[in-house]
Amino acid sequence: MERTFDLIVLGAGPGGYVAAIRGAQLGMKVAVLEKKHVGGVCLNIGCIPSKNLISSAALVSGAGKLAGFGVRTDFTGFDYGSVHAQSRMAAETLSKGIRYLLDKNGVTLVEEAGRITGPREVTTASGEKLSAQNIIVATGSRPRQIPGLEADGEQIFSSDDMLLCKELPKSICIIGGGAIGCEFAYILNSFGASVSLVEMTEHLLPNEDAEVAKALAMAFKKKKISVHLKSKAEIVRKDDQGVTVKITDVKGKAKETTVEKVLVVTGRVPNTEDLGLEEVGVELEKGFVKVNEYYQTNVPSIYGIGDVVPTPMLAHVASKEGELAVEYIAGKSGTEAPFVPYIPGCVYCEPQVAGFGVTEESALAQDSEAKVFKFPFKGAGKAVAIGKSEGFVKIITDRDGQIVGAHIIGADATELIHELVLAAWKKIPVQEVAKMVHAHPTLSEAVMECCRGYEDWMIHI
Ligand code: FAD
Repeated sequence: MERTFDLIVLGAGPGGYVAAIRGAQLGMKVAVLEKKHVGGVCLNIGCIPSKNLISSAALVSGAGKLAGFGVRTDFTGFDYGSVHAQSRMAAETLSKGIRYLLDKNGVTLVEEAGRITGPREVTTASGEKLSAQNIIVATGSRPRQIPGLEADGEQIFSSDDMLLCKELPKSICIIGGGAIGCEFAYILNSFGASVSLVEMTEHLLPNEDAEVAKALAMAFKKKKISVHLKSKAEIVRKDDQGVTVKITDVKGKAKETTVEKVLVVTGRVPNTEDLGLEEVGVELEKGFVKVNEYYQTNVPSIYGIGDVVPTPMLAHVASKEGELAVEYIAGKSGTEAPFVPYIPGCVYCEPQVAGFGVTEESALAQDSEAKVFKFPFKGAGKAVAIGKSEGFVKIITDRDGQIVGAHIIGADATELIHELVLAAWKKIPVQEVAKMVHAHPTLSEAVMECCRGYEDWMIHI
């Protein structure tokens, strides 16, 4: 007999598993299909293992600074095999945790690929037909393959290959200076690899505030990462000696470098093929699932969330979209203010970078009365005490003090950003955040001080 559900979710990444659990919480009978790894890219070959490697990298790069704190150690190096194994363990632990949560919420997990075979029907790889009132497509994305830079898993790596590789390359050329490229540059450089980082646009993290991105490039250069901006990389040769990459800058000046590996991180493409979407009439646009503000496609019983829709490819965006789609299906939508302008984008290298909303350049171009304030971490006692006084907080407001963007580079930036996101989202004027008591000594005091910039009363500068 055909199994029937209220909701079927295709894909158990941070979009799909959150949608499934939220659906169950709202009383739906839910099935989630997953063809490879519960937790999706994020938990298995994305956010989680990369952050684990970053924390090991920070320990290794921090070992040299221990003497400055009066700590004597016999640090004799590291074993990259164990470092890597630890990152796989973190991924596995969290994936198991998601299985537990699905089970606890009564969600049926079907560990097979699914294909949509009707507006309310999904067929599994083994041929079972499942039906539901509504279907959510949350099948995520995969690394983009660029002609001439195709990953071969041996010398030319995608982010998947890099995260699964148990050996540390001696030298690497990273093509793509976005968040993933910068994080890998930091990780591999910290473990002693010789790293070149090539970015086609004017600065690293192309969507970030230019001043923040320039500060990151400077910090990377200090670590001896060779940063090439406004430059294009081509593979000239692959042989036993390694891979020879030609890096050509905007003026046409070219340089060749031979490295053990090349890592290509130039973007991702949505997984929307072989899902039966076109057959049931779901409209796609440039490979993405086209949806309305409730993540509903033109076929009313089919929704799309996460990396398959044209919104920022981030885990927290996928999860939020999953919640909102399910709440709409349950008739509970419309209670939240729009979240899209308030999505924090975070980069977890050292120094960390976090930002949301408009950048300084775009704010000043759009609004001559926009105001920009900056407070350096060296003015915050905690930052100095812990030896992490590099970087600054930058806040952009309209003339009435509404926060329209914020950008932080420095220690714990990825945690500090949320106070400002909340203020912007809930329209709390910057003057109010400036007056709120912040504990001393904390890095959050730098955020408070920056907010005081609006009425020109920063104390520690
Ligand atoms: P995915 O996580 O891609 O999950 C989709 C799932 O669907 C997969 O498990 C797949 O196997 C399954 N699937 C596909 N087709 C089918 C089918 N036909 N039937 C059944 N199952 C199917 N984002 C952040 O916010 N913070 C970070 O720090 C961060 N770091 C990253 C680091 C790296 C190296 C990478 C690659 C990405 C990172 N991301 C980060 C991005 C983040 O991983 C994605 O935005 C997020 O995973 C998207 O979630 P999703 O649910 O849409 O899709």
